[in-house]
Amino acid sequence: MVKETKYYDILGVKPSSTESELKKAYRKLAMKYHPDKNPDEPEKFKQISMAYEVLSDAKKREIYDQGGEQAIKEGHSGGGFSSPMDIFDMFFGGGPRRRQEKRGKDVVHQLSVSLEDMYNAAVRKLALQKNVICQKCEGRGGKKGAVEKCTNCRGSGMQVRIHQIGPGMVQQIQSMCHECHGQGERINAKDRCKTCQGRKIVRERKILEVHIDKGMKDGQKIIFHGEGDQEPGLEPGDIVIVLDEKEHSRFQRNGVNLIMKRDIELVEALCGFQKTVKTLDNRTLLITSHPGEIIKYGDIKCVMNEGMPIYRNPFEKGQLIIQFTVKFPENDFIPIEKLPELEKLLPEREEVIVTDDMEEAQLVELDPREARYGRSGNAYDDDEEDGPHGQRVQCASH
Ligand SMILES: [Zn+2]
Ligand SMILES: [Zn+2]
Repeated sequence: MVKETKYYDILGVKPSSTESELKKAYRKLAMKYHPDKNPDEPEKFKQISMAYEVLSDAKKREIYDQGGEQAIKEGHSGGGFSSPMDIFDMFFGGGPRRRQEKRGKDVVHQLSVSLEDMYNAAVRKLALQKNVICQKCEGRGGKKGAVEKCTNCRGSGMQVRIHQIGPGMVQQIQSMCHECHGQGERINAKDRCKTCQGRKIVRERKILEVHIDKGMKDGQKIIFHGEGDQEPGLEPGDIVIVLDEKEHSRFQRNGVNLIMKRDIELVEALCGFQKTVKTLDNRTLLITSHPGEIIKYGDIKCVMNEGMPIYRNPFEKGQLIIQFTVKFPENDFIPIEKLPELEKLLPEREEVIVTDDMEEAQLVELDPREARYGRSGNAYDDDEEDGPHGQRVQCASH
């Protein structure tokens, strides 16, 4: 049991969640609330980062589970939180960061990908707008030699105004230079680059080809080094594409395995069956049970090498795991007088010897509304009040 669930609630996960569930929850929320995408809720972004920072660290998570937020804030673990941006950059960041170099920021995009694409591999084209250095003026903003130091600010980009606020009292107000917009340099209008209007950079539409390889998984990052926004004097950051696996109608993925549910009829469960399964690359598998093999409700069988391809080793695949459910026939599916015939074929039943001291009890249908409150065990207690809906377990009479 954990002391409180606040951090888990922020991420929308259960306290029993695994590391990968936490990662996934953080990824989805951080993408949604990143200030670039959602500038209106900075507090939310901060909370998500705090919760993830604590819960993703096994030691801090243990402290939190035992002592709650108070224990974390009291700083048994050194105290203090990282900035939400640092957490984000660490999680999504491209290559190892060379801190000493001046580098533009990474741009993170999420790409929704079907299970079929991750099975078969695919190339997806992604259109992005990005800043690039103006080719025409090579990032100078004008003709060679046309760029001169701003005379207004003498190249500092800042303007200092002296403001007299009283006799012998002055106030210095520093602000961005209006002449050069803080650039510290200016270009005569006539020499200004026509392509970028002296801004040195232009917006460009860029098509990225994202190669989704066989076996890639949810949350996997594809990094385009140096493809982030360009800016004079800065090394461009990376474009980071984060894959977001779409839910599939038939298969559920678990690592390299695929899980599917399959309904079979009672006759198939007892007497054998043949079933077909459409694979993610549109082949049809024919599955045949062994004669004499009984499939029980909830039985799990698997087909080797029909799961997901293994990343970077795609000729090997995981398993296809099939969970069987058995459909029982409806009431009165055969006339009552024929039941003895059926019974003769089935394993023998155990007879009960009825004695006088036994009490007759009636079997009724369970009301699912009662069951939801976890009261199925004591719903009949005499001193128990009526259920939340003021109803008793209903008897479905025939
Ligand atoms: Zn230009
Ligand atoms: Zn200036």
